[in-house]
Amino acid sequence: MNSNMPPIAVLFLHPGCNMTCTFCVTENSFSAMRFDQALRLLDLLRTHRVDTVVLGGGEPFTWRHSLIELTREAKARRFFVQVGTNGTMLPENFENIPSIDRYVLPLDAADASTHNELRHYQDRHHSVILERMARLRTARKSVTISTVVTAQNIGALPAIADLLAQYSQSGGQLHAWHLYKFIPQGRGGRKNAGSLDICEDAYQTACAEVKQRNPGLLVYKRRDMFHSRTVDFYWYHREAIQIGSEVWSRPQPQVAAYSSGQSLPAAADAFTS
Ligand code: SF4
Repeated sequence: MNSNMPPIAVLFLHPGCNMTCTFCVTENSFSAMRFDQALRLLDLLRTHRVDTVVLGGGEPFTWRHSLIELTREAKARRFFVQVGTNGTMLPENFENIPSIDRYVLPLDAADASTHNELRHYQDRHHSVILERMARLRTARKSVTISTVVTAQNIGALPAIADLLAQYSQSGGQLHAWHLYKFIPQGRGGRKNAGSLDICEDAYQTACAEVKQRNPGLLVYKRRDMFHSRTVDFYWYHREAIQIGSEVWSRPQPQVAAYSSGQSLPAAADAFTS
C-alpha cells in the first residue's frame, strides 16, 4: 500500500458533454471508459489509501453506461461518492439517490447573465443550478460549488460568496467552494484564452478578498486544476489506465500509464505535487 497516495480520486469517465463552456479544459482525445474498466479501477483504488471518488467527465450523466449503477458499485466498495456534473441531465429525484453522497456543481456568477455568458446551455444554466441547489438543500444533501475564475467573472466572486453564505445560513449543506484559476487549455480554454486569462496576482487578490469577506466559508484555492496534494486523476487511453495530476495534453513522461490488468504502482504519487 502506498501511504502517500492522494485520498481523493477523480475519474474522467469520458470526454463527452452536452454543453460548450467557454473555459472548458477537457480534451477530446481520451477514451470513454467501459463499465468493466470503471469497476476494475474502483477495485484498484480500494486497495490503496483512496477513500473518496469523484465521478466526472466531460459530463458523467451523458456517459453511455449507467452512472447510477456505477455509484452503487462505488458505494458497495465503501467509497465516499461524489458526482461532478453540470447539473443539466440529473435524473428524477436526484437529490435522494442514496449512493451519491455529494454533488459538485458549477456556479460562475451570482447573476445569470455573467454565468450564462461563460456556460452555454439554452441561456438558462444559471437558473438550472440554482434550482438544483435548492432541491439539495431541501433534501439536506451535501454540495460543493466550483467556480472557474476568469477575466469575465473575477469581479463576481464577492457576490457568489454572499450567495453561498446565504445558502448555508438557510440550511444548505455546503461542503466547500472551489476557486479554479482559468487555464488556457482544452477545447474551450485554448480557444478563448484571449478573453478569459487572468494573471496570478489578480487571482490571488480575488481569493484573498472573498476569504476576508466571508471567513466562515470553506474556500479552496485551485490555482492549477490538475495539481493537488489531495486529489489525483484517472482516465483511460485505449486499454491503459492513465494516472496523474497532469493534464493529458502535456508531455507523456509526466503521466503514468498502466494496463487494466495491473495493480496500481506504489509510486503513483510521484506524479502529483
Ligand atoms: S466545462 Fe462545460 S463543456 Fe466542459 S465538461 Fe464541464 S460542463 Fe461540459
